[in-house]
Amino acid sequence: KRMKVGVIFGGKSGEHEVSLQSAKSVMDALDPLQYTIIPIGITRDGRWQVGKGAMKALETAQVAAVESKGTTTQLPKNYINSTIGGLTPASATRSVDLLPPALVNEIDVAIPVLHGTYGEDGSIQGLLELVGVPYVGAGILASAVGLDKIAMKQMFAAVGIPQVQYVACTRNQWRTNPEELLDMVEGNLAYPCFVKPANLGSSVGISKAKTREELAKAIALAAQYDRKIIVEQGLDVREVEVAVLGNDVPMVSVAGEIIPSNEFYDYEAKYVGGNSKLIIPADLTDEQREQVERYAVEAFQAIDCSGLARVDFFIERASGRVLVNEINTMPGFTRYSMYPKLWEATGMSYSKLLDHLIQLALERHVERE
Ligand code: ATP
Ligand code: MG
Ligand code: MG
Ligand code: MG
Repeated sequence: KRMKVGVIFGGKSGEHEVSLQSAKSVMDALDPLQYTIIPIGITRDGRWQVGKGAMKALETAQVAAVESKGTTTQLPKNYINSTIGGLTPASATRSVDLLPPALVNEIDVAIPVLHGTYGEDGSIQGLLELVGVPYVGAGILASAVGLDKIAMKQMFAAVGIPQVQYVACTRNQWRTNPEELLDMVEGNLAYPCFVKPANLGSSVGISKAKTREELAKAIALAAQYDRKIIVEQGLDVREVEVAVLGNDVPMVSVAGEIIPSNEFYDYEAKYVGGNSKLIIPADLTDEQREQVERYAVEAFQAIDCSGLARVDFFIERASGRVLVNEINTMPGFTRYSMYPKLWEATGMSYSKLLDHLIQLALERHVERE
């Protein structure tokens, strides 16, 4: 008997389009002899669609994504409206009674191929826990901590993982006393620095600031996306990533290096321009490789992660020092994304990887019962 797999995609997130691309690859690669796919789409304003409707949404949304090329770092209007100030249209979010019955009654396992808010942040994981459906990837805690760059850094610091210097602040601080906030950042960090919304991904809302004026602009931009903002010391770095797979005994892939096509690995360099290069395996010293592997497992375990994660590193050019940048609990998952490519280079094909992830989801479900 074939297993029924609910592939959940889209979502109320700044990474909606990226999720559609990832989900398409996943659905194409799931072995039809082993699995029946139930597509479950979530629109940008949070409505659920199952089956044919979801596939249609997938197609039309993809067209929209292509059309918006070049300007995609700007979030769609409805996303901003639906989050800022915490006011949400009732039709969009209070839709528990509209949850697809398929989610509760039909599927054996869910793959939430969702990036960013309401998908990678523990919210959908909480819903799946409530309805008792096994699901691929990190649980509630790891998802929530992993997506929040400030909480994540605090957890990493607690176990001594080396990281860049940073300052955490809020939208409210920016609104009430911007000059004081700029002084505070300048007192703790040197230019250039990187300003990021705390809870996002795909470099959405991130800017590099070289002056006080740019810093002000960057904070204002990040504040459009999130209540919490992080400002990091900008370093001259090589960027290396590894893939982690497993539950209690995680495995680590070979490392890959990214050569961004832009000044940094921004949204454009990741998805639009497509000229960034991935070098697999990365050229590292034995010591660097050993540190990358060790910190990857430590980072995974520090947030109580399960299933999968991609851990992103910086290697400071001047010193060769290895620092953890971040963990991503639902990394980009198209066939061409770093995560599956790293496993391919380690000897696991894209479809075998999906089999493995589904197995890990079922094992964790049993372990939790
Ligand atoms: P992802 O798509 O990997 O989830 P993200 O939105 O979580 O990305 P980061 O990985 O934190 O964002 O940063 C995006 C990019 O910005 C990095 O890959 C790197 O190119 C650059 N960058 C971020 N922070 C720094 C830093 N402190 N020093 C130098 N470069 C940085
Ligand atoms: Mg990230
Ligand atoms: Mg991410
Ligand atoms: Mg990253």
